Amino acid sequence: MAGRPAVADHRTEMTRDPKTAGTCPVCSTGELITIAMTVNGAELRFTTCHACEAKWWTREGEEIPLRSVIGMVVEARS
Ligand SMILES: [Zn+2]
Repeated sequence: MAGRPAVADHRTEMTRDPKTAGTCPVCSTGELITIAMTVNGAELRFTTCHACEAKWWTREGEEIPLRSVIGMVVEARS
């Protein structure tokens, strides 16, 4: 495995760089953690609140139900 420089970061690296962005709209205090990934060419983002554990998915900026995410992932794999 060569070609990628080692990431000297204290956080665990996942699919892409998890990002914290803004504060939670549910509890209005927690930090949001967003993980972005691409499924079928569409950008999906999973956002969760560090404090109250609210979580939701967005597809290209629009909030979508979890059921839709599962459908897309299953289709992408078959
Ligand atoms: Zn919250």
